[in-house]
Formats: sequence, C-alpha cells, structure tokens
Amino acid sequence: MTPPPLVSLEQVGKVFANGVTALGGFSLDVREGEFLSLLGPSGCGKSTVLRLIAGLAEPTTGRIAWPGSFDTDHRGRIGFVFQEPTLMPWAPVADNVWLPLRLRGVSRKAAQDRIAQSLALVGLQDFAKAYPRELSGGMKMRVSIARALSMEPRLLLMDEPFAALDEITRFKLNDDLLDVQKELSCTVVFVTHSVYESAYLSNRIAVLSPRPGRIVAELAGASSRERDGDFRASLAYADLCRKVSQALTGSMRDGGLR
Ligand code: ADP
Repeated sequence: MTPPPLVSLEQVGKVFANGVTALGGFSLDVREGEFLSLLGPSGCGKSTVLRLIAGLAEPTTGRIAWPGSFDTDHRGRIGFVFQEPTLMPWAPVADNVWLPLRLRGVSRKAAQDRIAQSLALVGLQDFAKAYPRELSGGMKMRVSIARALSMEPRLLLMDEPFAALDEITRFKLNDDLLDVQKELSCTVVFVTHSVYESAYLSNRIAVLSPRPGRIVAELAGASSRERDGDFRASLAYADLCRKVSQALTGSMRDGGLR
C-alpha cells in the first residue's frame, strides 16, 4: 500500500497584495523520504511554494493538506534553508546554530549536543567558536544548513541554497547534502533553477511553468543507489540532464500566463 503523501498542495493559488499572481492551480504531493526538486525560471513561484509549505504564508485559493500524521507528530520539525546564509556576524558559529532552538526557549547548555551534532553533520565540528567573517561562502552555507538541522527536521525546505557558490564548492555541498539526507532520512524539497543540480540531487523533479507557477512536467531522477561517485560523469546523468532540460524548455514554451 502506498503511504499517504507527507503534504499535498491541492489546486493552490497565491495572489499577493500588489496583485501579482505567483501561483495558479498548483498541485503537488510531497512523498515521505524523497528528495524532490522544484525547477523553474526565476519568478515562477518556487519560493512561494516553500513558504506556503512552511506555513509562512497562506494560499489564496486551494488548500494544503497533511494527510498522514506529520502535522501532529512533527510540528515544528520543518527546517528552512534560504539562498543567503543570513548569519549573525557578531555571534560565533555555535550560537548561530543555536538560534532556532534558543527562540523555542532551549538553553545553550541543553542545546549543546544538538549544536555539536549538527555541526558534525556538515563537517564544521572544529569551527564552533569561529565567527562568520572567518568563513568562506561555502562554510557559511554549511552553518546555515547546520542551523536548520539543529531542529532535527523531518522535512527540509531549501531555497536555492547553493546558487551563489562556485561550482566546485557547490558540487561538494551537493554530495554532502545527499549524505546528510541519508543519515537523517528526512524529506527534502529543494528549489533550484539549475537543470544539472536538480538532475544530480533528486529522486523526482517537478518542472514549473513561468508565473503563475504550476507543475507542467514531472521526471523521475536517479535512485540513491544509482548515485555513486561516478554518477556525475555517467551517461545516465547526461541523459537525465537532457530530458530535464527539454522539459524546462517545453514549460517555457507552453506554460506561462494563461
Ligand atoms: P521564484 O522563487 O520562482 O523566483 P517567487 O516565489 O520568489 O519566485 O516569486 C513569484 C512572484 O511573486 C514574483 O513575481 C515575485 O516578485 C512575486 N512575489 C513574491 N513574494 C511577494 C510578496 N511578498 N509580495 C508581492 N509579490 C511577491
């Protein structure tokens, strides 16, 4: 029997106060344990989808349903990673990671183990006392991810987290993110406008139309088993990139303002 989706967006529309229609008829099921990418051109509503799932905004039409027990069992266990690391420059790394726990009233002492574990997961165990200014762009993003992991998320929402990084750093962080997901067995919804990144990371890729965003194509990505060290250089990866790229081109041609 197929388990119910973790969260379902059903015919969701979002119109902002300034009259911009970001989403229209947007339907999507997020399945437990998957790595799902939302791929689409800039401004098509990808971030809006994440914000709606996180409860940071409300749909104008349609609804967001949590058909299983996630909403009751794991309330508060949604991690959000933004495009910019947005660290507090005056606070050391450990305190930056502590922030979401601190906001929930967890003392530094009680949070100590979780901070250490989160930093270890992103390979920054030796940088707890460093300040953001001492870190590279990639390391700052690792701190930002560790901060989301400190909540022990069951659902990790990531909004183009690696867009500002150089390619080598991005490749490394891609691999490390897949390791983290395996270690935590959490569900990831990952927003990107990179065909290559979505094809590398995802079990499933949902392609959005230009604004107002809706899903116009869905592609199966590689399974975690197939994604070994050589995957990036494999024919299977090249073939997947071609298919994803075609779907994106198709969405730009056929989608958009209706
Ligand atoms: P993406 O993440 O795909 O780049 P967004 O979800 O950020 O797209 O934005 C979709 C559209 O909605 C854009 O045209 C953006 O300018 C607009 N938008 C996003 N947030 C707001 C807001 N709070 N108020 C008004 N317009 C917004």
